[in-house]
Amino acid sequence: MAETLTQAKMGWNWDNSYARLPAFFYTRQEPVPVRAPKMVILNRSLANTLGLDADALDSEAGAELFAGNRLPEGAAPLAQAYAGHQFGHFTMLGDGRAILLGEQLTPQGERVDIQLKGSGRTPYSRGGDGRAALGPMLREYIVSEAMHALGIPTTRSLAVVTTGQGVIREETLAGAVLTRVAASHIRVGTFQYAARWGGPAQLRILADYTLRRHYPEALDADNRYLALLQHTIGRQASLIARWMHVGFIHGVMNTDNMAISGETIDYGPCAFMNEYDPATVFSSIDTGGRYAYGNQPYIAAWNLARFAESLLPLLDDDEDRAIEMAEEVLSTFPGQFRRNWLDGMRAKLGLFGEETEDEARIEALLSIMQQHRADFTNTFRALTLDRPEDVPMHGTSAFGDWLAWWQARRHRQAESDDASRQRMREHNPAIIPRNHQVEAALAAAVRGDDSVMKRLLDVLAKPFAYTEDQAAYVAPPPPSDQPYRTFCGT
Ligand code: AMP
Ligand code: MG
Repeated sequence: MAETLTQAKMGWNWDNSYARLPAFFYTRQEPVPVRAPKMVILNRSLANTLGLDADALDSEAGAELFAGNRLPEGAAPLAQAYAGHQFGHFTMLGDGRAILLGEQLTPQGERVDIQLKGSGRTPYSRGGDGRAALGPMLREYIVSEAMHALGIPTTRSLAVVTTGQGVIREETLAGAVLTRVAASHIRVGTFQYAARWGGPAQLRILADYTLRRHYPEALDADNRYLALLQHTIGRQASLIARWMHVGFIHGVMNTDNMAISGETIDYGPCAFMNEYDPATVFSSIDTGGRYAYGNQPYIAAWNLARFAESLLPLLDDDEDRAIEMAEEVLSTFPGQFRRNWLDGMRAKLGLFGEETEDEARIEALLSIMQQHRADFTNTFRALTLDRPEDVPMHGTSAFGDWLAWWQARRHRQAESDDASRQRMREHNPAIIPRNHQVEAALAAAVRGDDSVMKRLLDVLAKPFAYTEDQAAYVAPPPPSDQPYRTFCGT
């Protein structure tokens, strides 16, 4: 009795639509219990938004729930099946270390997935242990919450607990489980799985389900599956542009890590760029630079082409006609991306309206920045604060010419200087999760001191505030002989 009451008080409001799909799409599977669950961090404000009782969750019972030791009443745990191209190679994947508990209906009427990541082996684990280490789970927590604060669509992080068990990597690390909240976990790879191992009937079920969940406005289109492709392309064109505007590098844009909802998903070797350079790569396994900063729009287009291929049987009975339709829609991606990117870059420079020269001048600024190894975030921060003298290229004739153009361009627009400055303040974060700051927070947290991480999370929650307490976080990392490297989230 008591247990049920606690669960009710926690505010869970499940409606598990994915679990009602045919069994082809998942395997029913409970999380594997762990020895000693302990709460490391609970996202109280997110809990409130979801209609959950943060006080009730911030408890031993809450830790047991987020570790997978106790299931909330009404959950329907399962591991999702999916496939994907990893670094260009097609393979069967699936939730190898994650369990979807179900879908929470929020007080705002939204439906979100509640997923445990690091919750033990599943039929899709292949050689893996199904587990995750504390550092990478906290890393996902910090970076995903920072992305949310930056206004970029992303999965969220509700909690991290430790398991009281070690996970064996290069050394033995503390095991942890992250609770992830997502619009859904439907990936390009989910469609690839359906196309490859299901039939047109399964594919149609998945497409209709996805349309109802993410693009209900497209259900009545003449060709709803073409509309699904169009809408997904539109969301990705916007998402990738937003990444580019803040210097975010996802690091592992495999097709299984691209969500149809348009949210950023699967924070593994991701990192933010310091010095502007399109070739920037942090991931230790991305030796070819496939997922470099500047490649992201091209990779997104490549992934969307794989999505389109999966949808072909639904687009038209005549395959040639289906291909023609898909290609036509895919061909709109570069233009849509460019438009989103340009709009955002104009906003970063406080520009209203459009002039034909804008694009070339924005490119010119980036090329000057690259030549002078200017920090991406801090350059736009300096311009926002009216301190062009703070950037490394200050005093060069190229930058002088550029500044003169920029000032004249801003004078030509009808909007006031104040409005222009305001626009810059809203689009140029004063701080981003700098890699060295994140690492310092993680190192302390793994030692049991979460104060560094809590302070970092506090400042990252208001990236556009330009407050005094952010000053300590704006410096790029000190020069080092060792290039910064990130690792896949294991
Ligand atoms: P990711 O690199 O996180 O996108 O994961 C790629 C695939 O590997 C997914 O199918 C994961 O479920 C699986 N995977 C990653 N780490 C593990 C692990 N420790 N145990 C089992 N499967 C894993
Ligand atoms: Mg993944």
